[in-house]
Amino acid sequence: MKVQFLDLKAQYQTIREEVQSALQQVLDNTAFAGGPFVAQFEKEFALFCKSEQAIGVGSGTDALWLALLGLGIGKGDEVITVPDTFIATAEAISYCGATPVFVDVEEKTYNMDPAMLEAAITPRTKAIIPVHLFGQTADMDPIMEIAKKHGLYVVEDACQAHGAEYKGRMAGSIGDAGCFSFYPGKNLGAYGEAGAVVTNNADLANKMRMFRDHGQSKKYYHGLVGWNARMDGFQGAILSVKLKYLDRWNEARRKNGQLYNELLTGRDGIVVPLEAGYAKHVYHIYAIRMQNRDAMINTLGEKGINTGIHYPVPIHLQEAYHFLGLKKGSFPVAEKCASEFISLPMFPELSVEQITYVTQEIKNCCKS
Ligand SMILES: *Cc1c(COP(=O)(O)O)cnc(C)c1O
Repeated sequence: MKVQFLDLKAQYQTIREEVQSALQQVLDNTAFAGGPFVAQFEKEFALFCKSEQAIGVGSGTDALWLALLGLGIGKGDEVITVPDTFIATAEAISYCGATPVFVDVEEKTYNMDPAMLEAAITPRTKAIIPVHLFGQTADMDPIMEIAKKHGLYVVEDACQAHGAEYKGRMAGSIGDAGCFSFYPGKNLGAYGEAGAVVTNNADLANKMRMFRDHGQSKKYYHGLVGWNARMDGFQGAILSVKLKYLDRWNEARRKNGQLYNELLTGRDGIVVPLEAGYAKHVYHIYAIRMQNRDAMINTLGEKGINTGIHYPVPIHLQEAYHFLGLKKGSFPVAEKCASEFISLPMFPELSVEQITYVTQEIKNCCKS
């Protein structure tokens, strides 16, 4: 049996006509860069996230960068995040001139360890970016409390957590801003590049709207030095179609995650993901952990099962961030997890047969 890591075609087949008619409308209106289809999606996405505003941008990386720029973060500032994340979280910090500072993650949730947070705060710290890794939120209450105590902004990296919840609150709606990616493989994926920031802060929203459009609030009158980070009209229209299905797709992911958990629990040497008591996990990635993973990955590959590693090298050990001078051993939990993660196939349309086959092959491999 062949089991792809991610099957975008299976989902496209279920919404093909709707997507094509949405694209036709964008063409008929020649509304390609920003425009009414983006504005419509922004309204719908803000509502979905229970936030006052959503600002559509070109990517999740843009979303993080513009949120930091809009909060006035720049040269000489420090922004705290985690080492086990996609590089974009750190890049956004670097590209507004600030320096990323890392705190280790919790071994159970793979998210920022609030107990380690305060020790990383210095007089230069301006903001904290908790990352909701794999579709489960970080433990936001203690993070928000520490941020408040020290007067720091909180920007949620919710790029993997569309529709995830923390104590009944929507991911992205808890901090000063929540940043989302609509990269095609995300739980809510565009058919190209796109992203958004949600916020309840009207000033910040206005600034980000200016930044994404060359710093202008009126055509050719530029109040800020901005950039072109607009969302594409086609992506706005497609995202409006897909947003209607997101809850259903997330439920299917949760069911798939629970079935994986049932079939893998009790296997010696395999750690399955834990849904924290505070969380509604939306399983963007279903990652197990095991030592000496290479043999497992190879065997599964030979059996037609594609897997991934998210992420093999923590940010502080990436060549791009050597200049920070952080050595192996700086963040032991993040490093250990990065060396043990295996991401199994995960998407809403995955079948019970496929999940059963994957877990059977994992058990066979454990035995030998
Ligand atoms: C995908 C992702 C991003 C970046 O999003 P792009 O749309 O690819 O720019 C940022 N942070 C995390 C955690 C992500 O998973």
